[in-house]
Amino acid sequence: MNENQRIIEEYQRNGISKEVYEFGSKIEEKLKERFCYFDKIAEINQMKVIAAMQKHRVSAECFHAANGYGYNDLGRDTLEAVYAECFRGEDALVRPQITCGTHALALALMSNLRPGDELLSPVGKPYDTLEEVIGIRPSKGSLAEYNIHYRQVDLLPDGNFDFEGIKNAINEKTKMVTIQRSKGYATRPTLSVDKIGELIKFIKGIKKDVICMVDNCYGEFVEEKEPLEAGADLIVGSLIKNPGGGLAPIGGYIAGKEEYVKQASYRLTSPGLGKEVGASLGVIQSFYQGLFLAPTVVNSALKGAVFAANIYETLGFDVIPNSTESRHDIIQAVTFHKKEPMIAFCQGIQAAAPVDSYVTPEPWAMPGYDSDVIMAAGAFVQGSSIELSADGPVKPPYSVYFQGGLTWYHAKLGILMSLQKLYEQNLVNRELMC
Ligand SMILES: *Cc1c(COP(=O)(O)O)cnc(C)c1O
Repeated sequence: MNENQRIIEEYQRNGISKEVYEFGSKIEEKLKERFCYFDKIAEINQMKVIAAMQKHRVSAECFHAANGYGYNDLGRDTLEAVYAECFRGEDALVRPQITCGTHALALALMSNLRPGDELLSPVGKPYDTLEEVIGIRPSKGSLAEYNIHYRQVDLLPDGNFDFEGIKNAINEKTKMVTIQRSKGYATRPTLSVDKIGELIKFIKGIKKDVICMVDNCYGEFVEEKEPLEAGADLIVGSLIKNPGGGLAPIGGYIAGKEEYVKQASYRLTSPGLGKEVGASLGVIQSFYQGLFLAPTVVNSALKGAVFAANIYETLGFDVIPNSTESRHDIIQAVTFHKKEPMIAFCQGIQAAAPVDSYVTPEPWAMPGYDSDVIMAAGAFVQGSSIELSADGPVKPPYSVYFQGGLTWYHAKLGILMSLQKLYEQNLVNRELMC
């Protein structure tokens, strides 16, 4: 028996029919060139990470679990130097005490803005959780409560920057600009590092000393360059997304200009103490090892995203980004326009998970949402969205946001399983699979 028959047999044993597998194989065959491109990006980024670890002399001693105040925590200080090097910043703050991406972003904003200052988002509405940080939705402890104002310039209908509007919005109070790289759960395009560079250049041309911060969530290692290389002053992200490589159990980072990173450290710990305290406890080895794996983990997630886009586009569903667009983050949206296929999709992702595969996700009224939400995640780290996961509000247009996959083979199995569920319930046009 040849390898191919063995694989088909193994997929069948795991619940994937021959028809679904063979359709998937045809799609995969057409993606060779794109996968090859992703592999090259991962190869470059892998070397970047290794070189940074070597330059800063990462050693076994760095993995010791420091406790107490954490003065001279070698593991923590070295890791921050490694992050700064990787992302081409002067300095970095990488801590388990930063609980998530939202916290990291709030920290960067609250530490660098002062009462009376203005914050500008030139790329439209920021990620949902930032609305309460900024005070777009009234909220306790928001920037608005500290008399820090916010302005927003939406993207033009064609997705481009509204340069005229941005120019008009910048004034003597504008202290900081926040640019979200990933589209998050909006339908605008994700920004490439080059496009971010263009925008920053324009803004600095109007006001040289404005602090340009990039929300880098879901963007790390997708391209060979990061936003600091395109002129950003600060980049901010979550370790339970891309740079944690699936191993970091918690954490966030802020990297960039030393002055602004230091400000964040004084807010995270205390004025006067800054980066000098904050023991890394027992998690630091997973931060190193996760960063080491991150380029290949992101590579797997990208392959999964493009595979899903091509499968579902071929079957007649709307996908964002589409099957051929270049990628600048790891999120894939699929719009089903009907409830049943959306639910079947999520149930397939769940059924293929290494953890909690036996539970069946159902729509539920999650706090803070105006409709039922369905979520599929069988993750080693709770809420980790660099692991294969899918979710979406169960209301028209019935879009699922799908991301992650620590290995390409798991992402592939998850997507095939999602299709299997649709196939079994007669929710796809089988003629399009031939
Ligand atoms: C996930 C995400 C955040 C918030 O990160 P959490 O870890 O969920 O708090 C902010 N911005 C973007 C673009 C994100 O994708």
